[in-house]
Amino acid sequence: MIYYSPMNASIAYRYRGALYLNITNRCPTACEFCIKRGWDMRFRGSDLRLGPQEPSVSDILGAVETERRASPFSEAVFCGYGEPTCRLPELLEVCGELRRLLPGLRLRLNTVGLGDLVNGRPIAPELQGRLDAVRISLNTADPAEWARIMRPLPEYRERGFESVLGFIRDCARRIPDTQATAVERPGADVEACRRLARTLGAGFAPRAYLDAYEER
Ligand code: SF4
Repeated sequence: MIYYSPMNASIAYRYRGALYLNITNRCPTACEFCIKRGWDMRFRGSDLRLGPQEPSVSDILGAVETERRASPFSEAVFCGYGEPTCRLPELLEVCGELRRLLPGLRLRLNTVGLGDLVNGRPIAPELQGRLDAVRISLNTADPAEWARIMRPLPEYRERGFESVLGFIRDCARRIPDTQATAVERPGADVEACRRLARTLGAGFAPRAYLDAYEER
């Protein structure tokens, strides 16, 4: 690879042996359990505040290359303080380049699941073949609770929950390792989420609840 990124620190960070890629700070939701504000945009020692200019495809690939030279990783995860499908063209391009440059690297997307509405079309067909795994925030089996805890922007409030379900179903048909997730927040009905995920054809994974006051 020949890429170099001066923005490396805020784009790429390590977590549990994988390389995480923070490609945007934009979100279609303001999830009530999100720790990005409580943790001042920091995560386990990394500052994920991107500033006014989002990283280019070249910046992102440069960050991957810098990390690859530092120490190996077997998985890259699109996940930061922002929703990666807000930058679908760049996400797809980076995946394509990583497939070409680093064959064998596992590629995963962590998403809030609103990519179809954000992009105005079903996006699972475009993700097929580019990703090995996807984790989709479900968090509740109840549409009213979804709107209450995910706090979507107004344009996603009415159709958001149904769109997330459709996206999970589409991904389960097209991406080998598709799992819905639920944060184990106080009062969460995690088992209802697990059952709903199963009806959609997806796997399921609970996620640890991160307290805004714990160590960043
Ligand atoms: S989508 Fe992720 S980063 Fe955005 S508000 Fe929700 S938890 Fe936070």
